[in-house]
Amino acid sequence: MIQLTTAAKLENAITKARTVKPLVRVARFGSYTVTNKATGATYTVECVKRDGKRFASCSCKAGERGQACYHIAAAVSAHIQLATERATLDF
Ligand SMILES: [Zn+2]
Repeated sequence: MIQLTTAAKLENAITKARTVKPLVRVARFGSYTVTNKATGATYTVECVKRDGKRFASCSCKAGERGQACYHIAAAVSAHIQLATERATLDF
């Protein structure tokens, strides 16, 4: 579980996500499966908000060690997009 603060902390992971271009599927709002299309490796990323702080976790080895992996970067990007759409549609 890592706390998401600034985009700068995710910078390396975001760069890698842009290179790998993994497939992000929405399991439900806040839960995503991220697949590396080249290797087929699939991991689960959870995004949660607690006390106004944002956290993300990934089931890969780096994620289990609390490192910001590119799965988290890719899923967070999808999560933000989804959250924005929800906020826009929420009337
Ligand atoms: Zn990961």
